[in-house]
Amino acid sequence: MREIPSELIAQTVERLFWEANYILPPDMISLLRKGEKEETSPEARAVLESILENAALAAEGEYPLCQDCGMAAVFVDLGQEILITGDSLEAAATEGVRRAYDKGYLRKSIVGEPLFERKNTGDNTPALLRVRIVPGDKIKITAAPKGAGSENMSALTMLSPAAGAGGVEEFVVDTVRKAGPNPCPPIVVGVGVGSNFEGVADLAKRALLRPEGEINPHPQYSALEDRLLHRINGLGIGAAGYGGTVTALGVKVEWAPTHIASLPVAVSICCHANRHSAAVI
Ligand code: SF4
Repeated sequence: MREIPSELIAQTVERLFWEANYILPPDMISLLRKGEKEETSPEARAVLESILENAALAAEGEYPLCQDCGMAAVFVDLGQEILITGDSLEAAATEGVRRAYDKGYLRKSIVGEPLFERKNTGDNTPALLRVRIVPGDKIKITAAPKGAGSENMSALTMLSPAAGAGGVEEFVVDTVRKAGPNPCPPIVVGVGVGSNFEGVADLAKRALLRPEGEINPHPQYSALEDRLLHRINGLGIGAAGYGGTVTALGVKVEWAPTHIASLPVAVSICCHANRHSAAVI
């Protein structure tokens, strides 16, 4: 077994949330530049220019990319040959989030209890931990802060298998249409297909992490992504809802085995601030 002290995990999580909140990943910058070139609406193009300028200023001055510094989702691929010493993985991740949001002057946006009291926890904790046990003696940590504007536009449905690929397409496009300008377009759309009720939402979220340029290895899902991107950009929502041709910068679909009587579909919409940063220990 390889031992990893929980303090190292806490320090890594802290660093990753700083990076994610200040520096937009290079693939997102490239997509925004491409969108800026292709956009036909002058108003929407001006919005894309402002988004790019904002990203440059944020990286230069270490300012948050957006005032909503998000809920702190932490995706962990944990090698099964690792022994974490000290605190638990959850406690270490939460400590990393606490330090990052405190020292980095990032907005604290989490309420401890969601319905009655809704009191801010004051430090953006807890970390929202998603763990997969994988072979090996490494641990991959991905910090993915996500704001509520786009998170609130998420949707999930349990289709009949007879709905097929056409039914999936309709649900995804309809979800984006209904979202309109609320998720701060241009957006990235993560889609999950298969698994079960809770599993399909996880697939949609993980789909958002796939870097641009990494082609879906399944040709039919890859073609589905292309069709969805084309249809979504035909909706005419555009950057900040100003119309035009660039509503989505990318569509990523992840799938998993499911029940013979099920066709779960989840849509996770992320705004242009599709923030994530990863490290391997
Ligand atoms: S949806 Fe994204 S860009 Fe819009 S306010 Fe939320 S985090 Fe910021």
